[in-house]
Amino acid sequence: MEDHGMPAERRIMELPALIGELSPEDRTLAGRIFDVSTTTGRLDPPKSMHPWIEKSFGSVEAVREQRIVKVTNRFTFEGTLFNGLRASRPLDTGLDLDLEREIEKTAGDPFCHPEEGTPADVFGRIRGRHSTTASNIAKYDGFHGLIVFDDHNPLHFTPEKVADYISVGLEWGRKALKTDPEARYFFLMWNCLWRAGGSIIHGHAQVTATRGMHYPKVESLRRTAALYASEYGSDYFEDLFRVHEALGLAIPAPPGIRAFASLSPIKEKEVLLVGPSLEDDSLRRAVAGVLQGFTQKLGVSTFNAAFYLPPLAETEEDWSSFPVVVRLVDRGDPSNRTSDIGAMELYAASVVASDPFKVARILRDESS
Ligand SMILES: [Zn+2]
Repeated sequence: MEDHGMPAERRIMELPALIGELSPEDRTLAGRIFDVSTTTGRLDPPKSMHPWIEKSFGSVEAVREQRIVKVTNRFTFEGTLFNGLRASRPLDTGLDLDLEREIEKTAGDPFCHPEEGTPADVFGRIRGRHSTTASNIAKYDGFHGLIVFDDHNPLHFTPEKVADYISVGLEWGRKALKTDPEARYFFLMWNCLWRAGGSIIHGHAQVTATRGMHYPKVESLRRTAALYASEYGSDYFEDLFRVHEALGLAIPAPPGIRAFASLSPIKEKEVLLVGPSLEDDSLRRAVAGVLQGFTQKLGVSTFNAAFYLPPLAETEEDWSSFPVVVRLVDRGDPSNRTSDIGAMELYAASVVASDPFKVARILRDESS
């Protein structure tokens, strides 16, 4: 029986058709921001390979012709190649027991007693309800601190704890600014476990404050949004969200906060959150909510989180319409020795297996 209330599940492989079904306004906006094209990769496997292919990919036909969708953001020049074959593989869920054990094995490390085991910043430590700051021993930049979580296991977070880590980080940024009024550009990041670049297992996020101008990727996004506003008279981030929402990629978030599974993810399952400020709890909680969805519903155990903020004090550049942008990305299976990033990602475009429509559906608690 056909149910008109239940549309067929959307898939990234059908993106050109899905864009074609949008309202004329949304279709124009989608075409303005994204270049989308599809192609088919073909191969001819010898008979001797058939059993292995069937076991790994379901059928020989599935690999003989592979559909690839290429999405390029015409403004930021971020781009992704989605391979339908990889995207159709089931998403892994459930925490690996070995990972839990691996994490517990390192308990008792210096971060378990940060007051004795880590240096303080010259302005001292910020102490939150669930975390304490430390000064990073080998610095990225003039100011480089750590938010050391009380929890050894970085995956044992709750919304309260994540909100605390973020507010402690923000307070660290204010302290750095007070110490050096030129260190206006604050950056907050979380590399969760080794595959995400974390060299220490104990739960921690990192904060930096830089001078002169913001980090190039943040400054580039500011310029892109400013150029977009001057050319089209509308807000880049609003329009970006509108395209994602119209296509069914939005993720529920508190009022004023936009969350969506990105159409041009930098790597697997990337989700963006856009909000007016990190000062109040709503964006912090929204970030925590998506991270919980990552770990509990999508089976993610190693991820990066990055926070793009306007500088903490007035600068020469115009940041008046720049929101807070948070980017969350899965870094793959922690037991896999192969890096998820190679020359393609560093120098050309991202290659992604996860389907953003599926990511959005799972994070919305709909069927997978
Ligand atoms: Zn520890």
